[in-house]
Amino acid sequence: MSSVIAYAAPAEAAPLEKTVIERRELGPHDILIDIAFAGICHSDIHTVRGDWGPQQYPLAPGHEITGTVAAVGSEVTRHAVGDRVGVGCLVNSCGECRQCRRGEEQYCENGAIGTYGAVDRDGTITQGGYAQQVVVTEGFVLRIPDALPLDAAAPLLCAGITTYSPLRRWKVGPGTRVAVVGMGGLGHMGVQIAHALGAEVTVLSQTLSKQDDGLRLGADRYFATSDRETFRELRGSFDVILNTVSAAIDLRSYLGLLDVDGTLVCVGAPPEALSVNAGSLIAGRRSIAGSNIGGIRETQEMLDFCTEHGITAQIEVIPASAINEAYERVLASDVRYRFVIDAATFAA
Ligand code: NAP
Ligand code: ZN
Repeated sequence: MSSVIAYAAPAEAAPLEKTVIERRELGPHDILIDIAFAGICHSDIHTVRGDWGPQQYPLAPGHEITGTVAAVGSEVTRHAVGDRVGVGCLVNSCGECRQCRRGEEQYCENGAIGTYGAVDRDGTITQGGYAQQVVVTEGFVLRIPDALPLDAAAPLLCAGITTYSPLRRWKVGPGTRVAVVGMGGLGHMGVQIAHALGAEVTVLSQTLSKQDDGLRLGADRYFATSDRETFRELRGSFDVILNTVSAAIDLRSYLGLLDVDGTLVCVGAPPEALSVNAGSLIAGRRSIAGSNIGGIRETQEMLDFCTEHGITAQIEVIPASAINEAYERVLASDVRYRFVIDAATFAA
């Protein structure tokens, strides 16, 4: 075992603080990564604050990790020392079930192992990327193409794949009318990716305060959901709505914006239940769906897609000492559009 400096929540709802966590010895298929950057995902906040259920503390979050390979186990073939790599929301899965075999490790029938707060193979609780180093089995380590900077690429490991996967799944492309609800970390990636896929993209944000950024990132139109007129004007006008909102929204109003056969895909994961009435689905043969990150193969595909299209996250790099302040700003929808922690500051 080796000790590394990390930032962790000592208890539910407590501010994160500097601490020391243990990383396992390198097994034959393990990779030791010197972490360079770790993005702050709203899921980190939901998790450490107990929104999704009780956790074991201390808990170091972070599942948007980039860095370089510092050492490899004796049987590692996929990566070598010095490689630029990334780790997302998963660090292991059974590898044998139907879902793992088709590359959908996030739906592993035996339970995929999350990057933090999950029970690992050895019975310990996984600790995430707000740390100097991490040890991950090689099959869950992604290659970061040279053209992608490690800081602005970090959010692709969660926000990027979480929006790319459903946009591909629901065949978004030229001729598709897509609405992205919420212009935050996930939302601003969804806008860029949907635009690069050739879709007509509309942002539905609470206000017009981020309109210029939305249009610059590839949106064709931008509307405020605080204005009821938006819901009248856009009635029946989308094929796909990607809901990235971290709080419960009134799905009925949004379902009315779908054309016949349209689908509202939820990726935002508020702790509260979302309610719908059957009529709003029946009226236009509409569907509601959900989508969980993406598999490892698809995550590599997304990284290559983003490289090809020049897509990265819009980031604000912060020192570790600013994590708690950043959390408050994320909760206040005051993030443009992802905070990324500079791992060089963990030891400061
Ligand atoms: P984020 O950066 O905080 O963005 C969320 C956006 O939602 C905000 O910027 C805001 O956009 C909008 N919003 C927030 N509160 C709202 C409210 N009360 N009413 C209406 N709109 C509101 O968060 P994120 O990191 O993108 O994550 C978003 C959600 O996705 C979280 O619940 C997270 O846990 C979840 N998530 C799910 C997956 C998955 O695999 N399904 C993966 C990662 C994250 P505007 O200011 O533009 O309105
Ligand atoms: Zn995330």
